Amino acid sequence: MSTSIPSLTAQITMAYFSSTPVASIDVPGFVARVALTLGELEGVAAAQTIIEQRKEVSKTVKILVREHDRVAKVKAERSVFESHIVCMNCGKRFRTLARHLNQTHGITPAQYLARWNLPSGYPLVAPATSAIMSKALKDSYAGRNGR
Ligand SMILES: [Zn+2]
Repeated sequence: MSTSIPSLTAQITMAYFSSTPVASIDVPGFVARVALTLGELEGVAAAQTIIEQRKEVSKTVKILVREHDRVAKVKAERSVFESHIVCMNCGKRFRTLARHLNQTHGITPAQYLARWNLPSGYPLVAPATSAIMSKALKDSYAGRNGR
């Protein structure tokens, strides 16, 4: 603040004295009251400033955390391997991603694809695993048909 309490006190006191007659004996008490009130107001203003600053800081922290989380652990083109898929949220490897997304990150595969701008054909199951699963499916189908 550019205006100090003593100079504000002097201004207010003189303005008051110019319109209201005050006995000289009351002047010190009056000045003290003005100074005290100004001090309290400044204290309140300072406290409000601190609260506002804290709010700003916690808002900034939230934004930074969100931005940090938005940075992929791996690039999309480095996330699909024959034997595993790398989770772009946390960088861990999985043969299938859907259950991990749901349990660890609380999102659906669709939300995951949207979050990282992945194409709809993006595999959530490692190619090797998906080949094993479809072979198992075929085998069980063939078995049921008594081949
Ligand atoms: Zn993950």
